[in-house]
Amino acid sequence: MTPFDAILFDFDGVLIDSEPLHCLCWADVLKPLGVTLEWDYYRDHCIGIDDREMLRMMATQSDPPRDWQELWAQYPAKRELFRDRTLSAPPFDPALDSFLQTLHGHYKMAVVSSSARAEIEPLLTAGGLRRYFETMVCDREAGALKPAPEPYLMAARLLGASNPLVVEDSPAGIASGRAAGFEVLAVQSPAEVPDLVRRKVARAHGLRCPEPL
Ligand SMILES: [Mg+2]
Repeated sequence: MTPFDAILFDFDGVLIDSEPLHCLCWADVLKPLGVTLEWDYYRDHCIGIDDREMLRMMATQSDPPRDWQELWAQYPAKRELFRDRTLSAPPFDPALDSFLQTLHGHYKMAVVSSSARAEIEPLLTAGGLRRYFETMVCDREAGALKPAPEPYLMAARLLGASNPLVVEDSPAGIASGRAAGFEVLAVQSPAEVPDLVRRKVARAHGLRCPEPL
């Protein structure tokens, strides 16, 4: 197996688990309207769907049914709340900093995300993690979104990497990395990223793997 020369990380679901906080913020702004949102429901029905779709579903299932637009009117408040809470305490796993520090210097690294740069770069900076990444490719900066290969191709080009490892959690992201021709490590949650990446690079590098990777 050829050693990797860079590691390209997706953001949501790989470096950060932002869903519990999204749920909490929605719950807080919907509560004054008499609408209850609990984590179990959000986790099972709301992750991966558009916010509007989520609110339409909740409005229909309310007893009595609600006008979904009344719930959607809370969106600006939810967005503000989320921004304030994430910037004051970004929900990164405490182990992420030392993990990235271990890789830093051995690998060029980038964040490749479909989210807007204005939403995620301040979080990385606030969490003290931005310094580990040479570059970021966000939103439509590459001209196309995942599952197209462009975002990962652009990140590799910016880093001068020819054999990067892509770390992804979603079907669209995994497809994007593969379409770019890169090896993709599929993960299910940020918590398992450090161990799985360490194992993957150790295997690729064999005995040349620097401790404690
Ligand atoms: Mg993701």
